[in-house]
Amino acid sequence: MLSAIKLTLMLFLSGFIACYGSNPNYDSIHKLLLVSFDGFRADYLKNYRLPHLQEFIEDGVLVEHLINAFITKTFPNHYSIVTGLYEESHGIVANEMYDEDTKKKFSQFNDADPFWWNEATPIWVTNQQQENRRSAAAMWPGTDVKINNTTPHFFMKYNYSVTFEERMGNVTMWLNNSQPPVTFATLYWEEPDASGHKYGPDDKENMRKVLEQVDNHIGSLMDKLKALGLWESINVIITSDHGMAQCFPKRLIKLDDCIGRGNYTLIDTSPVAAVLPRSNKTYVYNLLKNCSTSMKVYLKEEIPDRFHYRHNKRIQPIILVADEGWTIVQNETLKKLGAHGYDNALPSMHPFLAAHGPAFHKGYKQDTINTVDIYPMMCHILGLKPQPNNGTFTNTKCLLADQWCVNLPEAIGIVVGVLMVLTTLTCLIIITKNRMSSPRPFSRLQLQDDDDPLIG
Ligand SMILES: [Zn+2]
Repeated sequence: MLSAIKLTLMLFLSGFIACYGSNPNYDSIHKLLLVSFDGFRADYLKNYRLPHLQEFIEDGVLVEHLINAFITKTFPNHYSIVTGLYEESHGIVANEMYDEDTKKKFSQFNDADPFWWNEATPIWVTNQQQENRRSAAAMWPGTDVKINNTTPHFFMKYNYSVTFEERMGNVTMWLNNSQPPVTFATLYWEEPDASGHKYGPDDKENMRKVLEQVDNHIGSLMDKLKALGLWESINVIITSDHGMAQCFPKRLIKLDDCIGRGNYTLIDTSPVAAVLPRSNKTYVYNLLKNCSTSMKVYLKEEIPDRFHYRHNKRIQPIILVADEGWTIVQNETLKKLGAHGYDNALPSMHPFLAAHGPAFHKGYKQDTINTVDIYPMMCHILGLKPQPNNGTFTNTKCLLADQWCVNLPEAIGIVVGVLMVLTTLTCLIIITKNRMSSPRPFSRLQLQDDDDPLIG
């Protein structure tokens, strides 16, 4: 009965929220700052002391694991965050790409051609298409490219040597001063990814040092927003693109041992290698298929559905996926002790998400959402109509202060409560019905011998 009361109350409240809560006045729209610390593996949060980030989470929300998009690389996942699309749909399918029709090549150092980005519309473009709003970017893959003929109103040309302080100083200034207002902004930082690659995530001492620096950056961002008087009104999401796995010098898959280099072009390298056959595709496939038990070899059309990584012409005809900790090379030695790009089902590949601000609950934790779910949530916060996307808004409802959501134990309680109420009502109806219908007493016809005319 308690659950039934709770249900009634919740239904009432949800109706109230539907009427008043989900239609904020966008004249006083909340601002949103999206921050990425590249390569921040989910379990760093549990394994290292991060006081500033913990303070941020205590007063906000935490999603412990993000299921990111396959392949678990930087450019593809940063574009999934801001478009809500799987890689096959937004077109940034790797850090290194080749387009057969145009013969164009894409790399981290040659990424400015809008051709690669125009298959999707990132949120900073959609945000500016709404009247009287601006976007700003202190770096983020794609923000210095004219996508759909638009860059953020304020942006910085990508340069890894620009300090965090300078990026933070610019983005907070833009959020604070611009007229019309900057309502959406990005901030990107290369760590702890760079150290994760260099030392490997198992190097606790070096990872502790870099994570302490990252945590100090979070502390200085919070201080800056407080000093500007923005802290209570701005929404801040801190997240990342992928995690990091430890690699080993002896866990090498050497393609030269299996196939001559003249048979193929290696478009993208480890741990997901994209292979463009130069000779017969089946011949190349068969040689690679029998190369190592520590990697999966897929023809493009065989790539498992769960990867959502098939329907784009930039995905090459053969894809090699190394097992966790293994490295695919032609004949080289191991150069980096940490890598990412592996199967997105691996916990080591998952980043996290934390958020703080008026749009979010305080002190709420959730196990998981998908990276593609972030986009519809951000559109909701900004009051934007989302572009078609692969995300599910309901997955993020429990994080949001203006949404009604139930967790599993509550849902079970409500179902049991409703069943109890229905059973009670049914019993009452049956009893009442039985009482109301006038009973016809049963009596057996009594025949007395004397009355029987047939017996003489
Ligand atoms: Zn990255």
